[in-house]
This record gives sequence, C-alpha cells and structure tokens, in this order.
Amino acid sequence: MATHQPMHAPSTTSACFAVLDPATSEAFDEAPDQQPDELDAAVGRAHEAWRSWRADPAARTTALLAAANAVDAAGADLAPLLTREQGKPLAESYAEIARVAARLRYFAELDPQPQLITDGRPVCSEVRWRPLGPVAAIVPWNFPLQLASAKFAPALAAGNTMVLKPSPFTPLATRLLGSVISAALPENVLTIVTGHEPLGARLASHPGVRHVTFTGSIPTGRAVAQGAAASLARVTLELGGNDAAILLDDVDVEKIAEHLFWAAFRNCGQVCMAVKRVYAPARLYSHVVEALAQRAKTAVVGAGLDPATQLGPVNNAPQLARVERYTARAVAEGAQAVAGGHRLDRPGYFFAPTVLADVPAHSPVVTEEQFGPVLPVLPYGSLDEAVEAANDTGFGLGGSVWGTDLDRAEEVADRLECGTAWINHHAELSLAQPFTGSKESGVGVAGGPWGLFGNLRPFVVHRPQEA
Ligand code: NAD
Repeated sequence: MATHQPMHAPSTTSACFAVLDPATSEAFDEAPDQQPDELDAAVGRAHEAWRSWRADPAARTTALLAAANAVDAAGADLAPLLTREQGKPLAESYAEIARVAARLRYFAELDPQPQLITDGRPVCSEVRWRPLGPVAAIVPWNFPLQLASAKFAPALAAGNTMVLKPSPFTPLATRLLGSVISAALPENVLTIVTGHEPLGARLASHPGVRHVTFTGSIPTGRAVAQGAAASLARVTLELGGNDAAILLDDVDVEKIAEHLFWAAFRNCGQVCMAVKRVYAPARLYSHVVEALAQRAKTAVVGAGLDPATQLGPVNNAPQLARVERYTARAVAEGAQAVAGGHRLDRPGYFFAPTVLADVPAHSPVVTEEQFGPVLPVLPYGSLDEAVEAANDTGFGLGGSVWGTDLDRAEEVADRLECGTAWINHHAELSLAQPFTGSKESGVGVAGGPWGLFGNLRPFVVHRPQEA
C-alpha cells in the first residue's frame, strides 16, 4: 500500500502556483504546477500499476471499501480545505465528502456478470467484461471532490487505473483526497496531477490513456474530444446545462418557492444542474417573482467557514466577471433586478443573490449558462409556448416541472429534451441512476451500472456447444 503523505504540501520538483480563498480573494496556499514530463511519468506508472490492479476483483473491492472508510475518517481535514478554496458553506463540504465515500462503496460492490448469448446457433458465446487501461479524468471547480469521485469510483472499481487533474482553482482538497485514498490502494492506481493549461490538454490527448472522462464546459469538452481523437481513446463528457423549471398554472407558489429557490442558488448557482431559468404562467408571474426575490434578499451570504452562511462567494474572478457581465447586459436590455444585481461591497468574490424579471428571451442570461447566483424568471402564455422555450437550446442536461396535478406535470416533463426531468424537485440524483446529458450537454453515461460499464469493454469468447 502507498504511504499517506500530506499532499497539499508543495512538490519538491515542480514550481508552484497560488491558490486563492474566494471569500477574501487572497492566496492562502499553493499547489505544484506540474510539467509534461511529470505527467508522462504519472501515466507510465498508471500503466504499470494496471497490470496487477486489473487482475483481482475481490482485492479491489476490499481496497475501495477501505478507501471509503479512510475518506470518512478524513472529513474534518478535507471539509475546511474544500470550503477554503471553493467557497461553499462548510456543511455542504461535509455533504460532498460523504457523497465521495458513498460513491466508493456503491461502485466497489457492483459486480459485472458475464452474459451468455443465446440466439439459436449451436455455439456458446459468452460476454465478459474487461477494463480499458489507464483513464484520464479532468474535473471543474464547483464540486471538486464529488466530481472527482464520479470519475475514479467507477473507473477503479472496473479495474482501471487513473490520472486525474482538478481545476487549478481547486487543486488542494483533491490532492489531499488523492493522498487519503491512495494510502488504501496499491501505489499509482490513482494519481492526482495539478497545474495550468496545457496540462489538461496534454492529459486528454495522451497516447497512454484508453478513456478520457471529462466534466466541464461545452467548449472545453469539444477540445478534449478533439485531443482524445488522436489516440482514439473512449470519451465521456459531462458538460454544461441551462436547465429550465416550468411552473404549471396549478402550482402552489408558497409551497414550492423555498425549494425552487435553493434548486437555483445552492452552491451559489454553480451547479451544472441548477435551475437556470424559470418559466411561470403569466397569471402567477408577479407572485413567483416576489416569492423568489424575497428569499434572495434574506439568504445569508458570507464566507463558507462562517456557520451562519447559506450562500458563499462565487469561486473565482473570471466567473464573477461573467455573472456580472450577463446581469448588466440583461438590465441594459430592459430586465429588472428585483433582488440583487450587483457585487457586494466587501473583499472576495461576492455577488448579491439576484432575481431578474422582464428579461428578454434572447438575453445571454437566458440563452447561455450564467453559472452563478442569478436567476431570470420569464412569463408564458400557453403551456406549449413554455415547453418550446425550455427546449429551444443546445443544452440538454436537466429540467423540471412544478405543479399540483402530478400526472399532468409528468406529461409535461416527458416533453422536455434533457437527460433527467424532475417533478416538484430539481437535481436530486441517486448513485444508482444513469446521469447523462442530451444534445450538447454530454456524451456517454455516468452513474449506476451504466457508469461502471462506461469503464469496461465487452470481450466475447465463442466456442462450439458440446456434442
Ligand atoms: P472548464 O471547461 O473551463 O474547465 C474544466 C476542467 O478542464 C478544468 O480542470 C480545466 O483546468 C480543464 N481544462 C481547461 N482547458 C482545457 C483543455 N483545453 N483541455 C483539457 N482540459 C482543460 O469548466 P469550469 O469553468 O471549470 O466548470 C464549469 C463548467 O462545468 C460549467 O459549464 C458546468 O455546467 C460544467 N459542469 C458540468 C457538470 C456535469 O456533470 N454535466 C458538472 C459540473 C460542472
């Protein structure tokens, strides 16, 4: 087993880059800026480690269950570090870490069975499942640990090894998590590499990897797919979303407002499957806007380490600038900021929780992914008009329908063009279900057994039947 090192200590070989606390915008630590030769060495070691890791499924299960226990035990070290670099409230960091451990346990115990093909021929064909080899994983800064685990838990359980690169905005908790998990696994089964571009591009196009699994924005996903094409590695892409919530005319606004608000603003709106646009029937429009605005005005915004905080800062300066730009443009185009609409006058990357009314449907805050604490609310006349507006986008991650008549709500949900549609809910995900985006929001399937099979290839043994 590998030795457990405090991985947030800088490497002795690489130069380092500063990591900022978004609640102050000041540097508080650093991470290694790893170079191409270090990446090549990490992929080479992952290949070596694969030989024995792939061979013994029972030993893998034991090691991954031990890793899950180690993650639980390290929660008090991981959670404050995650909050410090990401910005989210501490309780949400603990929840994220619990999800990592749960995901390791879930995948450790999945056992892909061989399958006999019976189609009437006098032969015996058996499909067996084989791992792919070293997997490259690249993840963003909004849920660094949870998204890393969505990569390594199924990939390692399937018998692959992994080299994983977190976002340079959030490298530290991932390095520590990697160290905690690696202490329970054979050496080099999981390696974390950190650094600035072109490190990710080089990892995605590395000839030594057989699967590239990426979570991030659509433009970067496109570049990753192009990079992976060089070695024809398998590609899984979990990309951006612009989820619509459609409120039906029988919705109980007061009953759902709190839930709907947090479906949009949790993690400061930095959730791929956040509600990013609300469509409300014209008759209820002002009531919906008011109910959401009232919550935006009273949500407690602050540093994630403050136990009173409900909404932390935006994670980084470019993202804050994007949120500010989309909001200013919407207001210039005639929208009203019924709550918020501006940065907070304090250090750090804080933006007031913002509800926008009367937003033109073509404004980028409606048509693109704002990925921040800003929610446009749009009125609709007919239900067909609302469904058409919800679907009129290249995004296709999630969507939701809110109302009292659940059968009717389900009929509307069934018309949404996305990977997951909820009723009176949003972004509730089970580890056991498939997670996938339609249209430009994704390629391939993560989650549940589908996520495991995404890291395996079928291998067929064909023999004549006994006479
Ligand atoms: P991003 O695409 O800018 O970066 C994602 C990762 O890719 C980072 O680690 C980054 O360093 C790396 N990267 C940047 N350029 C690269 C390149 N040319 N080649 C390889 N890697 C490169 O995204 P972000 O701003 O970090 O995250 C926000 C985006 O992630 C949003 O669009 C959000 O919707 C999406 N996201 C999707 C899901 C999902 O499951 N569908 C989950 C979370 C976030």
